[in-house]
Amino acid sequence: MTSKFQRKKPQQQQKKQWSLQDFEIGKPLGKGKFGRVYLARESKSKYIVALKMIFKEQIEKYRLHNQLRREMEIQTSLRHPNVLRLYGWFHDDDRIYLILEYAHGGELYRLLRKTGHLTEKHAATYIASIAQALVYCHEKDVIHRDIKPENLLLDHEGRLKIADFGWSVQSRSKRHTMCGTLDYLAPEMVENKAHDYAVDNWTLGVLCYEFLYGVPPFEAESQKDTFRRIMKVDLSFPSTPCISTEAKNLISRLLVKDSSKRLSLHKIMEHPWIIKNANPTGTCSE
Ligand code: AMP
Repeated sequence: MTSKFQRKKPQQQQKKQWSLQDFEIGKPLGKGKFGRVYLARESKSKYIVALKMIFKEQIEKYRLHNQLRREMEIQTSLRHPNVLRLYGWFHDDDRIYLILEYAHGGELYRLLRKTGHLTEKHAATYIASIAQALVYCHEKDVIHRDIKPENLLLDHEGRLKIADFGWSVQSRSKRHTMCGTLDYLAPEMVENKAHDYAVDNWTLGVLCYEFLYGVPPFEAESQKDTFRRIMKVDLSFPSTPCISTEAKNLISRLLVKDSSKRLSLHKIMEHPWIIKNANPTGTCSE
């Protein structure tokens, strides 16, 4: 789907000074820690977007101004089918507005909670999509992120889109109550050691497990116990749902304590389970 809005070159987009007057605001799509997201339509082109409104007060309170600006610049430059587009941004006295690609399917997290767990075909398609997006991002030296189901959105065809680049690492509101944010952390991060790209490969293992079983692998009653289970790589596979040996093999080769021994992103994409199950178009219909 193309539109005048989409076809504009980056330079032109940079030059265009957007304002709230350029948009017709529709229904609310969600609420995050720093503001709200609305469905919106650019008045001239009629192009549908998601408009994220962030309160400056919040950004100042958490001293995130520079970080947000840097990450917005990075995300604007990213062009990948599995990375949510940030078309541009503007601000007024109180708020910063991010003009985002609209993900019609909403959060993958919601789908996961609704269905309990995903089929192997869906799970493999999503894991391959994230791996491809990460290869692209790593090539661009974009490494600072917080991949978890809440930050994964779906478009109208069920194609996965990674949202909330980098700065969302600060936005940990949603899972506080269930100590969920720890669930995706690699052992080297739990221990506060230096870490590199391989933390994302660990997270892919956690996500693959959660997609298939409906719960993350190291979930525990308390944060302390989650920490402990991650450090021990206390991994076990329940008997239900019945999951293929190949899927378990992929998970076991990602959830490896020694980060240098984890399967690389390219090897993930060549893994027999991915080859057998992932839809090459990246789309998933229920
Ligand atoms: P956030 O502040 O990024 O956590 O967004 C809050 C909620 O708004 C998310 O949980 C999504 O349900 C929804 N949302 C955010 N961005 C989009 C988007 N681009 N398209 C559709 N829904 C979105």
